[in-house]
Amino acid sequence: MINEPNRINPIPELLDALVGGLREDTGGTVASYIPELAYADPEHFGLAMCTLDGHVYAAGEADVPFTIQSVSKPFVYALALDEFGLDEVMRRVGVEPSGEAFNAIRLEPGTGRPPNPMVNAGAILTTSLLPFDRILDGLARFAGRTLPVDETVYASEYRTGDLNRSLAYLMSSLGALTADPLESTAAYFRQCSVRVTASDLAVMAGVLANAGAHPVTGERIVSRDSASQVLTVMASCGMYDFSGEWLLRVGLPAKSGVSGGLVAALPAQFGIGLYSPRLDQHGNSVRAIGACEELSARFGLHVMNPVVRKASAVYERRDLSGGIAVRRLEGDLGFAGTEPLTRELAGSPPSALVLDLDRVGDPHPAALRMLDRLVQSLAEDSVPVVVVDHRRRGLLRNAETEFGSLGEAQQYLDRS
Ligand code: GLN
Repeated sequence: MINEPNRINPIPELLDALVGGLREDTGGTVASYIPELAYADPEHFGLAMCTLDGHVYAAGEADVPFTIQSVSKPFVYALALDEFGLDEVMRRVGVEPSGEAFNAIRLEPGTGRPPNPMVNAGAILTTSLLPFDRILDGLARFAGRTLPVDETVYASEYRTGDLNRSLAYLMSSLGALTADPLESTAAYFRQCSVRVTASDLAVMAGVLANAGAHPVTGERIVSRDSASQVLTVMASCGMYDFSGEWLLRVGLPAKSGVSGGLVAALPAQFGIGLYSPRLDQHGNSVRAIGACEELSARFGLHVMNPVVRKASAVYERRDLSGGIAVRRLEGDLGFAGTEPLTRELAGSPPSALVLDLDRVGDPHPAALRMLDRLVQSLAEDSVPVVVVDHRRRGLLRNAETEFGSLGEAQQYLDRS
């Protein structure tokens, strides 16, 4: 899975050069308020990128393990969203950027509800919603492998975790935290002590970028909605009191942690994982931030500056005798890809329609609904619509019938 040295593919070389260049930046300091974290090798610097077809590019020390710390927060939030839904989770944890440090003692006046799930108070509350084995298993499913807990880091944070315990007791006294404060913080410390590598983080971010499905195995980890909700909260709150400037300059939903880890994801394109232990004054890894700024600029990754995709999903149109229209679609189908077809067919309806969806990958449910509504309207006007799909996924419920091949569909319409 990890890339071989390759003289032809320019991407490994670009990533190596980027890591090599940024190694010279020795600014920042390794976190030591959790004593065990201070033993990290400050020179370690790893970067990995996971494409949505499951290829992992790695540069530097991308396979050096470290504890995940706050980078666990978005993934555990995703598991909670998947279990309880957005409204239920939002009743307990807000989604407003606090503009404050990760360990800020700020809760909603009156209710004690924490501002968002990316700061410690919100993360402790999110963790309290799930049994710990679900959390550990969920993180492993994101990574696609079993992840160990670093017991030494756990013990170190447990010993020195009074501020987090205070936050938990404060939330408990205000009625926001309903589980036991000591148990909730212990589970949160364990979650933060899960050991990962930059490559793991790239794959985990890849799941979010891939609308909740694992980029390597294809397994669904969380729902499409949960994945997009987490990415949104990462975009607004993931980098603590640097979140606004980060989104402006780098333009990637991201989450950092005090051990020096960072995940970033470009929806529908890839996930990135980084590790370098020296932190800036916000508690974000200096080199990881530098690497993301450079990657974003060089590869054109800003989420608000996307590649404009070819408008229509139709790759071939054939108009056969008898007014039979054949339209062959490809890609994952979103609003912009589907709309031109609806406009065309509404403007000049055929007498029968074959929709070939064989090359359609993972359509957005909203695009499918739109297409199915079109099929229904055509049927109401006595225009039969048949679908071609060798996987026979039954994507359009209003279609008259579905065939495995274009030939069968044409024969059927010729006969009727
Ligand atoms: N476990 C750490 C803490 O609660 C996580 C903080 C972080 O990574 N920013 O202090």
